[in-house]
Amino acid sequence: MSEVRPVVVPFRGLRPAPSATRPRDERPGIGGVTPGELGAWFTERGEPAYRTRQVLDAAWRGREVAFAEILTLPAALRTDLDAAFRFDTVVESEVRITDGGLTEKALHRLSDGLLVESVLMHYPARDGSRERHTLCISSQAGCAVGCPFCATGELGMERDLETAEITDQVRSAARRLAADGRHLTNVVFMGMGEPLLNLDRVLEAIAALNDRQRFGLGARHITVSTSGVVPGIRRLTGLGPQFTLAISLHAARNPLRDVLVPLNRRWPVEEVVAAAREHGQATGRRVTYEVVMIEGINDTDLDADALAVLLHGEHAHVNLIPMNQVAHTPWTGTPIPAVERFATRLHAAGIQTTIRFNRGTEIGAACGQLAAEHAGQPTPIVVRRRRERLVSESAAALRGERSHEPVPAGVGEG
Ligand code: SAH
Ligand code: SF4
Repeated sequence: MSEVRPVVVPFRGLRPAPSATRPRDERPGIGGVTPGELGAWFTERGEPAYRTRQVLDAAWRGREVAFAEILTLPAALRTDLDAAFRFDTVVESEVRITDGGLTEKALHRLSDGLLVESVLMHYPARDGSRERHTLCISSQAGCAVGCPFCATGELGMERDLETAEITDQVRSAARRLAADGRHLTNVVFMGMGEPLLNLDRVLEAIAALNDRQRFGLGARHITVSTSGVVPGIRRLTGLGPQFTLAISLHAARNPLRDVLVPLNRRWPVEEVVAAAREHGQATGRRVTYEVVMIEGINDTDLDADALAVLLHGEHAHVNLIPMNQVAHTPWTGTPIPAVERFATRLHAAGIQTTIRFNRGTEIGAACGQLAAEHAGQPTPIVVRRRRERLVSESAAALRGERSHEPVPAGVGEG
């Protein structure tokens, strides 16, 4: 085992940090600095241009974990770099391994004490396809959207991640893989947070991952998942093909989607699908729709048929994901046979559909679940009230008694 592989320690080791507990380290993380910015910094100091290459190679491809370890640089320069930049914005990480070694969940502590998660999933080579190593990363600490089946939604919003705080999750996983001679093949923004509500930073992070001078991961190997921030989708469309877009749909009927994805009251499902369609047409990329399957809530024949009507004729692919159990919800995931039935119904209507089995359920690898555990549990009365509200709202939506409730413009615009 190589020295750079982190020690696997019990996850309970990182103590609760529900909100920022320290002032943030203001030095920019090197994982968010562009070659141009770094080049200008060296030029100002009268240093040769090749210093940029040396630092970027160490930061993005090397095994170094601090500027002090870049031995090709003069000692004084290493000290100056450390005063100006952070080599890593992740202060400490804990890694938990499950699924017989196929899933590694990492909890990262940031400089102000906040915790974010990333999940590394290994897919062995099969039927002629090469092995894949996919990393699921976070774009925000917490999330303001508040989907009731999601552990991150339960946490509420803490703050946007900086560009380097996003890319450093990738650098951390890449170092772990490199220790065993393996490479990261895919990155998905399906961890904590709504990437399209932190879009500038997310785009900078993707540019860094894409950049051959830095990580060099092809755009086709990057997926951004959104709960349906329509102005953000349109902005992406204007930028041309950048990556694969995944839409967290969860329900085709507005009154139910209002409950499951509260942002739906601002941008209803038809607007989301229209924006996704334009994205698909402009970029030539197939859009993926995600549906987290919740027993008795969004998994009925009626839901399958509504989804088939909504996506009829779309260049789309549907992913059905049985819900991971989250402490505060009154619901359970749809059992596999019922998920299969739903898939068969979509297939029959001409909609390409796959079932995605959850990874790492025993370590709570659903979106934000571990950070939520560490934030401490809400009081039983809060949980009971929330459950009661969700049961009554979803029941009303299912009986058709709940109308779609649009909210005024302004939320998440810009
Ligand atoms: N905010 C973005 C991206 C992060 S969530 C979005 O919502 O798309 C990434 C995915 O994890 C989403 O599809 C979300 O629905 C899913 N997810 C959240 N909670 C889950 C749970 N309890 N079980 C299974 N999937 C879940
Ligand atoms: Fe936020 Fe996505 Fe979780 Fe909804 S599912 S609360 S948008 S992270």
